[in-house]
Amino acid sequence: MTTEEKIKAMPKAELHRHIEGCVRPGTVLDLARQYGLKLPTFDPAGLDKIYKLRSPGASLEAVLGMFGLARASFASYEAVERITWEAMEDAYKKENIRLLELRYSPDFMLGPKNLDWNKAQEIIAATADRFERTYPVVCGIIVIASRSHGMEPALKTIDFTLNNKKTVIGFDLADSESAYPSSLYKKAARKLHEAGIPLTIHSGEEGHYSQVVETINELAPKRIGHGVKAAEDTSGRTMELIRQGEITVETNPWSNYLTRAVPSIEAHPLKKFITAGLRCTIGSDDPEILDTDLNKEYRLAVEKMGLSFDDINYTLRCAVEGSFLPKDKRQQAAKWLGL
Ligand SMILES: [Zn+2]
Repeated sequence: MTTEEKIKAMPKAELHRHIEGCVRPGTVLDLARQYGLKLPTFDPAGLDKIYKLRSPGASLEAVLGMFGLARASFASYEAVERITWEAMEDAYKKENIRLLELRYSPDFMLGPKNLDWNKAQEIIAATADRFERTYPVVCGIIVIASRSHGMEPALKTIDFTLNNKKTVIGFDLADSESAYPSSLYKKAARKLHEAGIPLTIHSGEEGHYSQVVETINELAPKRIGHGVKAAEDTSGRTMELIRQGEITVETNPWSNYLTRAVPSIEAHPLKKFITAGLRCTIGSDDPEILDTDLNKEYRLAVEKMGLSFDDINYTLRCAVEGSFLPKDKRQQAAKWLGL
């Protein structure tokens, strides 16, 4: 068996994947035709070129700008359901993912068509339930507040999360950490803690490692998305803070390479994190737009980033332990993953 075949066959866990980054190009075309949406081209090959980022973008901001076509595709509740189902289907059928946490930003995703957040969340949660009944996969949904949309929508998203506690497993803050530092959300995050909703925060994806320290001190998250900048603290203190807090770092190596968070895939600090005793997982972030999936991420980890298959298994154990899903679902996933 080649490394590629071995990886493809492995049962996997994904904790960091945005629904907005899972829209198939074919679905972008279908939905554009169905709802009369504008596209730069209706030629599948041409669209693929525009839609997918294949080499490093200028910055995180520039990469986030790639999401326009995906975002416009959430044109109706039916479209939301279709995209969610397909995201789950791709995860299971193409990557053999058995534990899947999907996340989305209601303000970003539902804003263009002004869809009702509660109704959309009901549909997304029902789709996850239906998927779990159909396939051997456990799924959960995380709600994101997009920092760059401003404080008011972020606070609205926190209230929305609290009101939908039954169908949401966690809360996340994403994008533009430098412009919207974690301290801004400290008071609002307290309400989430009081309600028992765990936090995972995009932090140290860009900017300075001190932002990771700030995120941990101000928001007390159970997990951190990306966290790559923590490795730039040569004193090792930031990594030690993560280790001592038993915080799980959701790494997304290819995404970090494309947003220039790391200069090369070989320079990604995942192996360094593992060696230092940090809890780490491997994620794909936005598989369609960033042209990746866990098969590719694991292959890069083994072939370019110095991970062994034992390390990969370690990341899977960290994923099951760090997942926000209820215990019974995590135990079921552990069995499927052979842990
Ligand atoms: Zn992300």
